[in-house]
Amino acid sequence: MLAGSCLCGGVRFEISAPFLKLTFCHCTTCKRISGGVGTANGRSRSEWIDVVQGHELLTTYQPDEGSAKTFCSVCGSNLFGGGWPESEEASVRLSSIDSEIEGEPSAHIYTRSMATWETLPDDGLPRHETQSP
Ligand SMILES: [Zn+2]
Ligand SMILES: [Zn+2]
Repeated sequence: MLAGSCLCGGVRFEISAPFLKLTFCHCTTCKRISGGVGTANGRSRSEWIDVVQGHELLTTYQPDEGSAKTFCSVCGSNLFGGGWPESEEASVRLSSIDSEIEGEPSAHIYTRSMATWETLPDDGLPRHETQSP
């Protein structure tokens, strides 16, 4: 089981199974919500994610393009993407996970949205212009 929380500690959640896949996303939306080069995500089935504390603090934002993103309305920590909780699968921001995570990200995605101030690490991972195939 994985445990996660936001910066203020108001929201706590658990995930009952290991992540299906780990990726770095460099899309423009992830830059906006992360304050950096993008997000690091674990893919999980939405039904595996159980918010055990602070459900009332969660706010979900649906951008004009792309899937809904959920954050803590107190501290602003970005927690879930990919349309959680309605979608079959969701993205969980690895920055919110308190447990040790098994495995490593397998790819950089949406590299077409690289910022001029951004450099990709020389980590040997595949880079995809959009989503992973
Ligand atoms: Zn919070
Ligand atoms: Zn993204």
